Amino acid sequence: MSQLTDPFGRRIEYVRISVTDRCDLRCFYCMPKGFHDFEEPENWLSFDEITRVIGAFAELGVRRARITGGEPLVRHDLPQLAAQLAALPGIEDLSLSTNAVQLERHAAELHRAGVTRLNVSLDTLDGERFHTITGGGRLDKVLAGLMAAKQAGFAPVKINMVVMKGVNDDEVEAMVDFCIEHDFTLRFIETMPMGDTGRDAANRYVDLREVRERLERRYTLLPGVMPGGGPANYMRVAGTELRIGFITPISQHFCETCNRVRLSVDGTLYMCLGQEHAFELRPLLRAGADAEALKAAILEAIALKPARHEFTEKPSQVMRFMSKTGG
Ligand code: SF4
Repeated sequence: MSQLTDPFGRRIEYVRISVTDRCDLRCFYCMPKGFHDFEEPENWLSFDEITRVIGAFAELGVRRARITGGEPLVRHDLPQLAAQLAALPGIEDLSLSTNAVQLERHAAELHRAGVTRLNVSLDTLDGERFHTITGGGRLDKVLAGLMAAKQAGFAPVKINMVVMKGVNDDEVEAMVDFCIEHDFTLRFIETMPMGDTGRDAANRYVDLREVRERLERRYTLLPGVMPGGGPANYMRVAGTELRIGFITPISQHFCETCNRVRLSVDGTLYMCLGQEHAFELRPLLRAGADAEALKAAILEAIALKPARHEFTEKPSQVMRFMSKTGG
């Protein structure tokens, strides 16, 4: 049981690890085209430094870790880090979030290294629209990556679709059918005002309660559950194995049950996706801090965790892009 309890009595059981702020796509609601102000490589935490931090979290009771980015597959030798994290005593669940552009090449090795669950960002099944949303990406590569993930034995494979008005909201039913056909789990996500790009996308905000009502006119949705530590509220489509999750940070936020913090590539611990409360771990790591010192720092950091986001009240508060910490 996690000993990490924040000032609001929430147990912190889950760390999301951004291993890079770089990406091989430029989704318009995340990273601006032509953006180059990335973290300098000398400031990136090494795999050993990341493992020391997650090791300290695991000694404090954290059981889940997720590898994210930017796009984590652009960081070289990622299976090596996955193997190190999977071997840590206490870490029971190691997952990965990816845009799957390079997944076909890495799926089998990541699965062998100990990653068991995958979340794949996929906002459209239309090749041209995919090219537009992602600033030049190829849908066929993502689909090949998804098939390779199934082949490699990842279960579940979850599809994350950010629903946007006038962009892809006409594809909700098609995405449901695609996930039924391929036995994927589907999650719909509301846009969040993260950075200027996120704020622009917020103009295309869709309240997922409307999407659920729309789906209920076509499918029978039953209460459903899914393994994992995430905030999604799941329904099952009657007559199928499909679970649909609704991630609603704006219309129905889930901050009361928040169980996570985020580690960015430069060693900054962010207490909340929607706030700037942060704690620098890199100086400590590079000063040779041992596990006890790291654990003391983590406890100090968790004491900073805010109650909730203020995306609605203060939409221009968060300057960093989603790619800085991952979702
Ligand atoms: S917005 Fe912040 S408090 Fe709310 S669920 Fe996300 S990380 Fe937790």
